[in-house]
Amino acid sequence: MSAEQKMKKCKFCGKSLPEEAIFCYYCHRELLTRPERPSSGVESKPVNWMVVGVIAVIVLVIIAVVLLGS
Ligand SMILES: [Zn+2]
Repeated sequence: MSAEQKMKKCKFCGKSLPEEAIFCYYCHRELLTRPERPSSGVESKPVNWMVVGVIAVIVLVIIAVVLLGS
């Protein structure tokens, strides 16, 4: 087991915390300073169901027109 885990210090109480900690384990304050890390693009975007619905309706209309028109 490597002890080379990146640590940061709580700016409120000065205790060592893991880099990923979003709040202090000791004083339970939120650590708003984020470590600068390149975004790996794993952001979960909410699906825009309105757009999905509109596209679905358009596709259905096109299919209906093609089927009825032939
Ligand atoms: Zn703290």
